[in-house]
Amino acid sequence: MSVGTKTLRLFFALWPGEAERASLAQFVETLKRTTTARWVEPENLHITLAFLGEVNEERLPLVDRIGGGIDGQSFELKLDRIDFWPKKEILWLSPSSTPAALDNLANGLTAELKRAGFVMENRPYRAHLTIARKAHPGCISSGVLDGPIRWNVGSFCLVESHLSGMGSQYRVRKSWNLSGSQAIPDDLSVR
Ligand code: ATP
Ligand code: MG
Repeated sequence: MSVGTKTLRLFFALWPGEAERASLAQFVETLKRTTTARWVEPENLHITLAFLGEVNEERLPLVDRIGGGIDGQSFELKLDRIDFWPKKEILWLSPSSTPAALDNLANGLTAELKRAGFVMENRPYRAHLTIARKAHPGCISSGVLDGPIRWNVGSFCLVESHLSGMGSQYRVRKSWNLSGSQAIPDDLSVR
């Protein structure tokens, strides 16, 4: 790498739409009454598909091509579990059954990134949405939620992360539609 070359901290992710984000934020609000934690800000809630870490900006076009080359299918995600990991003090939501389309999307991205020379996580993919860090969840225990949060996933995106003492800030750089996720035309949506 030449001296002074800029790097970007990047990851591929599922980014909630407004409706899903509102449901997630509302769910988190209810937990705040019972749990002390460093809560993830509503605008930061996401599911990581593949984490690249620091990437030389010259490789950004390659990363974009990999995102654009994935032939993924849309799917419905049912976030129906909450889990607490005491060792890391993390609270997260997850689907008790992961759609094959989600595994394929995450594994496909990781495989293509590896092929392009990126050093990627070797552990099997486990979809999860972190809602809190430094959590001391008192009476919350891991288990199935009474009301799952449903999310029709029609796209995925490439996100840039800026770490700071104030918490991380994310910026969606680009997003790609998944097959089968066309918007419903106006004249059909009112039927
Ligand atoms: P902070 O590190 O300040 O707690 P963060 O973890 O939200 O903030 P990043 O470290 O930039 O921000 O991570 C972005 C996303 O990638 C998060 O969802 C994070 O859980 C995930 N991630 C980070 N490091 C890895 C890794 N080594 N393997 C897999 N996923 C990772
Ligand atoms: Mg991190």
